[in-house]
Amino acid sequence: MFIRTYLRKVRDWVRRLLSHPQTPFGGILMLHRVDAPNSTGIWYNQHLKMSPQTIDEMVDYARKHKCCFVSLDEMADAIRKKKKVRRWIAITLDDGYRDNYKKGAPVFRQLNIPYTIYVCTKMVKGEMLYWWEILEQLVLEQNEVVLNDGRSFDCSTKEKKEQAFLDIREVILKLPQDNLKENLKTLFANYDINWDYGNNFLGLSWEQINELSKERLATIGNHTYSHSAFTGLTDDEIKEDVNKAAGEMRKNAGIEMNHFAFPYGEATAVSQHDIELIKGLRFATSATTKDGLVCYGTDLLELPRLFITERSWKCVIDRIVENC
Ligand SMILES: [Zn+2]
Repeated sequence: MFIRTYLRKVRDWVRRLLSHPQTPFGGILMLHRVDAPNSTGIWYNQHLKMSPQTIDEMVDYARKHKCCFVSLDEMADAIRKKKKVRRWIAITLDDGYRDNYKKGAPVFRQLNIPYTIYVCTKMVKGEMLYWWEILEQLVLEQNEVVLNDGRSFDCSTKEKKEQAFLDIREVILKLPQDNLKENLKTLFANYDINWDYGNNFLGLSWEQINELSKERLATIGNHTYSHSAFTGLTDDEIKEDVNKAAGEMRKNAGIEMNHFAFPYGEATAVSQHDIELIKGLRFATSATTKDGLVCYGTDLLELPRLFITERSWKCVIDRIVENC
């Protein structure tokens, strides 16, 4: 047993020395919101939040285990040049929530940590449909949710509210995504809902993006304009959505975005064809939500990431420490 472990260590050492393509040397963390999760909320939404205190704790833990926090550009450079580095971590935040500016930027500044925010420009323009936030409020308020077609969902206990949220979410995801707001108005006709909820406070503003762009540690990336799943779009529509985001950012904040993240990166939402399409758009990197560590042979335009939550961060950092 001891010999086998020893041989594996020697093999890993040799592989690292030769920058073997499958040798992992770090990870890209995927966060969304910087805020304390609300314990009375729906976990499926709340798990997108990580509090500034937990980020502080995570960075401290990672640094104690010899991890080094780098920018996405530095990470890409290490892949390109096969640098002999270990335990490199890049932080990315998807969507462009306002708390990234209010609570994220101060903690990253204090810790001296580079980070990339992939901005969905529709959120900045205040034109987003935050149906998942609205649905959370609805199931928390009601004891039962009845859709216009008569389907009903029991929301009488916290456990049932969690399940109802997931079940109704499935119903919403199956709706035609164009003209979604009208479809939702019909589906939830039994309730008086403000479908513009969140547009004046959940997303980053252009002023905040402008300020962030002047920060040495911050990078702003492209996360499309509308955050639509690529599976429902034609090639031309995908290109239009990505270029529209680039144009809005250029016009309103003077930023050229060199990094891209797929709006939904899982296999069901992004095909190999979509990945090839994005490869043709000249980004320095593009990130998926596919789980994995960064290796010397990782494709810069198909970067894997590590989803991290308030509850799971230690396991994720341990995975980097053990393998890199
Ligand atoms: Zn996203």
